[in-house]
Amino acid sequence: MENCLFCKIIAGEIPSTVEYEDEYIYAFKDINPVAPVHTLVVPKKHICCLDGLCDEDEALMGKVMLGIKKVASKYEECKDGYRVINNCGENGGQTVMHLHFHIIGGTKLDEKLI
Ligand code: 5GP
Ligand code: ZN
Repeated sequence: MENCLFCKIIAGEIPSTVEYEDEYIYAFKDINPVAPVHTLVVPKKHICCLDGLCDEDEALMGKVMLGIKKVASKYEECKDGYRVINNCGENGGQTVMHLHFHIIGGTKLDEKLI
């Protein structure tokens, strides 16, 4: 999609530090890490957010979730656990409107909202 930052990153038009890539997903380091591991996992298909999912994305979302596990398993720092975060929409604090999941780890995450 035109003018989508993460679509441009997926296309290689904007540089990123790629951590994993396959037919369905792209994983890259967050530019502003909040923890020793902070990687974003995105579907290659442009979907604005969780609310933008439709029934035909069911299988793709399985690939995304398994991809998150695969990416996290690459990090020694995540062997004792990690957190996966999705911010959805304005009230959820989403700033880039291309569905993405944050993998955060490498430290004990103390601030728990839930
Ligand atoms: P959100 O706030 O939408 O859940 O997360 C967007 C994330 O994208 C933020 O953590 C932010 O640091 C990251 N980000 C924004 N622009 C770029 C960029 O150009 N490159 C990379 N690698 N990450 C970015
Ligand atoms: Zn996009």
